[in-house]
Amino acid sequence: MVRTRFAPSPTGYLHIGGVRTALFNWLYAKRHGGQFILRIDDTDQQRNVEEALAPILHGFRWLGMDWDEGPEVGGPYEPYYQSERLERYQQAAQQLLDSGHAYYDYATPEELDAERKAADAEKRPFQYSRKYMAETAEERAKWEAEGRSHVVRLKMPREGVCAFTDSVRGDVEFQWSKENDLVIQRADGTCLYHLASVVDDYDLKITHVIRAEEHLSNTPRQIFIGQSLGFDIPQYAHLPYVAEPGSKNKLSKRKLEKYLKNADFKRLNEHGQVIADQIGLTTSAETFNPVIVDFYELTGYLPAAILNYLVLLGWSLDDKTEDLSIEEMIANFSLERVTKAPASFDCKKLWAFQDRYMQKLPLKQKTAACLPYLQKAGLVADPAPCEVGPKLTRIIEACGDRLKVMGDIIAYADYFFVADEEMKYDEKAFNKRLGSPEALALLTKFRATLAVVETWDVPTLDKTMHDFVASEEIKIGEIIHAVRIATTGQGVGPGLFDCLDIVGKDSCLARIDRTLALAAERNAT
Ligand code: GLU
Repeated sequence: MVRTRFAPSPTGYLHIGGVRTALFNWLYAKRHGGQFILRIDDTDQQRNVEEALAPILHGFRWLGMDWDEGPEVGGPYEPYYQSERLERYQQAAQQLLDSGHAYYDYATPEELDAERKAADAEKRPFQYSRKYMAETAEERAKWEAEGRSHVVRLKMPREGVCAFTDSVRGDVEFQWSKENDLVIQRADGTCLYHLASVVDDYDLKITHVIRAEEHLSNTPRQIFIGQSLGFDIPQYAHLPYVAEPGSKNKLSKRKLEKYLKNADFKRLNEHGQVIADQIGLTTSAETFNPVIVDFYELTGYLPAAILNYLVLLGWSLDDKTEDLSIEEMIANFSLERVTKAPASFDCKKLWAFQDRYMQKLPLKQKTAACLPYLQKAGLVADPAPCEVGPKLTRIIEACGDRLKVMGDIIAYADYFFVADEEMKYDEKAFNKRLGSPEALALLTKFRATLAVVETWDVPTLDKTMHDFVASEEIKIGEIIHAVRIATTGQGVGPGLFDCLDIVGKDSCLARIDRTLALAAERNAT
């Protein structure tokens, strides 16, 4: 039975690179009909755990990554919080002391520091002299008589190698001569991460430890702990870094933001902020950044697009397939096809996945997914009145592939939901297209033409406009932009005849009248 785990510390946010690691664990478990467990590494937690964990759990739920055991769902190996398992770790530390794999160490920080400095001066790797080690009651009594306090350290091997086979890295060897006696328990009795992690992986019957590459160097000491406690050692798989775009450096918020400032990404960069402003959300710098999953939920990405993009950060089905459904990922995922090279997180590429997934999304689902954005923006009541559904469907149809993320709907649909007298104008477009008396005269004339249109639909409106252009002997550009601004307030948007149709005849005429009055007023001053 395959059992994998993801072990986040409650940091208050879900990092996109963490999701990649969790996804590989989740897929591996699903692929083998096993279980995926969430374990909470909260031993060093200063803040409120529940509060700091909530966004992480929320992120997983939003992405559709369910966990079989862990917070909220429980399971047969409770508790899943390290902070609640201290006694078990203490018992393991005692076992290591009893078997001679660990010792009490009475060195002071100053003494250790002096040893470290001496090693540095001689340019040799620092290895603790074990001068203040106590393995017997007498030795302990001697140091304690001096008023010293102790920690518990592992008595690590000093020669030979630790060799293991990693599912991604292959055969790996670490020399014991470069390892240091690790502290596993502090003076106050609390235990440290490595011990806790190994004990938990064993107690939770984890078969595969699939985690980020930065933990590779932790593995020898963890294997030493596991073997010393008589545990079966899980299979390790260390995934390549999720790197910054175009580099091998680990993905960081600061660098990614810099990358997003590049002109190509201007829209992407500003996107979240525009949406956030519109829905009146006070975004904290913590959550409002593209390294954190909240950003994608806020702007309205599709979870399936995100997961599809993330699965390719270090894994591939073959050399060409890019689009994979969750089912296809589960059916095909294997650790053998995970690469060693760092995988670059490219927002532009993720954006392209989102675009493709959005185009494929059935209209009904798109409508349902867009509605909450309009509600958050205060454009539609919650619950939505029944006429909103068909209207929104029409708008989304008219937007076509302009809608890249759900949040886009706010920019494209705002004017369909506001009252005529509250519609806002894009000032630049207004001045450009309605600044001259000729433009206003044409708009006035066209308003009269519209007023007598009987069948208010796209083909009729289209024909009306073209007939008007022909009889006035003007270019279509001389009237079409003015009509768009007058009826939507914007210089760009979905097809104009769709817009007119959706706004409706009465509102179109009222909006044109309002625009003409406003323009006349402006021209007079
Ligand atoms: N809490 C650890 C981390 O977030 C987990 C490490 C592990 O997977 O063993 O890095």
